[in-house]
Amino acid sequence: MKLSPFWWDIDTPLIAENNSDGLLSDAEFVIVGGGFTGLSAALTIARQGRSVVVLDSGTPGFGASTRNGGICSGNIRPSHSALRKTYGRAFADEVYAEGIEARVDLAKFCSEEKIDCDLQMTGRFTGAMCQSDYDAQAREVESLNNIDGHAAHMVPKSAQHSEIATDLFFGGMVREEIGGYHPGKFFAGLLRTAQSAGVVIHSDTTVKDITDLTPSQKSVITDRGTITAGKVIIATNAYTGTKERFGQFLRRRLVPAQSCIIVTEVLGHEKVQALMPKHRMYGNTANLFSYFRPTPDRDRILLGSRSMDKVTPSEQSVQYLKNRLTQIFPDLSDCGIDYCWLGNVAFTTSRLPVIFEHDKIFYAAGYAGSGTVWARWMGRKVAETALGIGNRPSIFSSPPPARLPFYDGRPWFMPTINRYFAFKDWWKSR
Ligand SMILES: Cc1cc2nc3c(=O)[nH]c(=O)nc-3n(C[C@H](O)[C@H](O)[C@H](O)COP(=O)(O)OP(=O)(O)OC[C@H]3O[C@@H](n4cnc5c(N)ncnc54)[C@H](O)[C@@H]3O)c2cc1C
Repeated sequence: MKLSPFWWDIDTPLIAENNSDGLLSDAEFVIVGGGFTGLSAALTIARQGRSVVVLDSGTPGFGASTRNGGICSGNIRPSHSALRKTYGRAFADEVYAEGIEARVDLAKFCSEEKIDCDLQMTGRFTGAMCQSDYDAQAREVESLNNIDGHAAHMVPKSAQHSEIATDLFFGGMVREEIGGYHPGKFFAGLLRTAQSAGVVIHSDTTVKDITDLTPSQKSVITDRGTITAGKVIIATNAYTGTKERFGQFLRRRLVPAQSCIIVTEVLGHEKVQALMPKHRMYGNTANLFSYFRPTPDRDRILLGSRSMDKVTPSEQSVQYLKNRLTQIFPDLSDCGIDYCWLGNVAFTTSRLPVIFEHDKIFYAAGYAGSGTVWARWMGRKVAETALGIGNRPSIFSSPPPARLPFYDGRPWFMPTINRYFAFKDWWKSR
């Protein structure tokens, strides 16, 4: 079993060539973090004819951006009804409408830039773990279908096998407008597009601190030297360190969590088709939910869920995910697992993404495990904010979120939260 992402095994170059040997001494814009957010922001800036440098402490894209499940949902964690209760109908509608706009924009971007990344809008089926979840989904469908671009419907348990060969769920919700892609191929395409537009990328360059040089310039201090920047964008999301001083402001407002993914051995087209007849993306309504899908070649199944491991997946994680897979598809109890890997996702307390400015530094983060659509979109939006262009700011542009109380960026409470969620899931399933 390989402990690296399935998505890294592709022919297209995934690794950025550092397109400048030494570190540049200055740039109009410096971006910290070379994932979807950072590269999308950099591309937006370069296309305005401005100089921009991306710094990444490792290999760009090897944070979450090429470790994800490739499900392109533009998902919002709080349901439409929960948002409506807390913030009012207008806000809830705008948030969900921006999700559609961001996803449509992703498809347009892939087509315009000729990024062949197996993007297929095959829809998503979310299985209800109990009858009350099914009823809540049915109410959500009504709300969503009032917002342009949504195409949701319910599938009762009696018709479930037309969606997925399982008896585990109490029926579920389909959202036809959602799909999936190959994140490795998408990242490779984004990288190529950004570099062709003039973005300079420095890998293996860790930003240690950001200080004021003059009222309109920042010094970005790295382990390879210092760059003078007109403006700085932080795009480190769930990989924001606790050690570097510049990261502390964000980290105290963001809770990282680990997600782990397994990919089965080759099952073959026929088997995958029998289990997932419409080749949709899939999820369930559990608090500790699983997300799963066929791989783009439709030969294997990928499944991911929350994990307590930090760096490498443990045997327990592999077994835990395999158990989840066989709960859904008992037929797969004997199948081998060829890949398993981990990555970090990040949440704000509202579980909504954020764009904000603090101390003349711009931030975009907190995609709550749904960054394949959001990170690229928010990268573009934060760049437009920093450039002072764009027709309309994102609905997520706001003052900095409040700092979490008793929190220094190390999520000591996560094991308790996970146990609580596991208990709630068990209680519901009785
Ligand atoms: C296992 C897993 C499954 C997921 N599945 C899905 C899915 O199916 N659908 C979906 O929509 N989303 C999914 N996501 C979420 C999605 O991948 C992320 O939201 C998205 O990739 C975030 O992109 P980013 O550019 O903001 O961050 P990242 O890609 O994480 O990039 C941050 C970068 O910052 C760099 N960095 C950090 N500190 C410094 C520093 N001091 N100096 C320089 N560089 C630094 C890191 O090296 C890293 O490359 C998943 C995530 C994971 C981990």
